[in-house]
Amino acid sequence: MRILIIEDEPDLLRSLTMALRDEGYAVDTAANGEDGLFSAESIAYDVILLDVMLPKLDGWGVLQRLRKTRKTPVLMLTARDTSRDRVRGLDTGADDYLVKPFDLPELLARLRALIRRTSGQTTTRIEIGEVALDTAARSVTRAGALVELTAREYGLLEYLMLHRGQVVTRTALYEHLFDEDDSTLSNLLDVHVSNMRKKLGHDFITTRRGHGYCIEG
Ligand code: CA
Repeated sequence: MRILIIEDEPDLLRSLTMALRDEGYAVDTAANGEDGLFSAESIAYDVILLDVMLPKLDGWGVLQRLRKTRKTPVLMLTARDTSRDRVRGLDTGADDYLVKPFDLPELLARLRALIRRTSGQTTTRIEIGEVALDTAARSVTRAGALVELTAREYGLLEYLMLHRGQVVTRTALYEHLFDEDDSTLSNLLDVHVSNMRKKLGHDFITTRRGHGYCIEG
């Protein structure tokens, strides 16, 4: 999953970026509203964390303009907790709202909930055949036994399982799993998929030549 953080406080931006990358998310950042809006309009992020008080263009302005073209889930971060702000945020098209200072575990839980909601998933557990994935614990089991996956493999599997039954193109995988700082070569995708097949069964992920990958749901 790929997240855009639009936040002008350098310390908060840095610590959020590190925390989200530790959780396995691909993370891009913007330190003002104009740059943030440009990135948000260019890339299909899975979630955008949007600060309200921003230089150049504030969070309300970013959200208002973004909603003309994209439905990307937006979690707004604000310093003030007033019902007027909450109402304004929801009316402008924010999907969730968190007041600073916030606890990291709560932010992470809300991010996961937003991602689940967007993909139409109601629980944290997805089961396909003998493979079960828990998006809260970020764990995977096969026939009840824990499967050790790298962070990249987990991200890839989670994305494919949330889109089960659909062919997910390589382009979509690159857009959703790698951030701007990632210099990973394209052929690594095949390597990850091949390693995952060894762990999850050879037929679990099918390759659609010229199209992408698919997990039948
Ligand atoms: Ca700010």
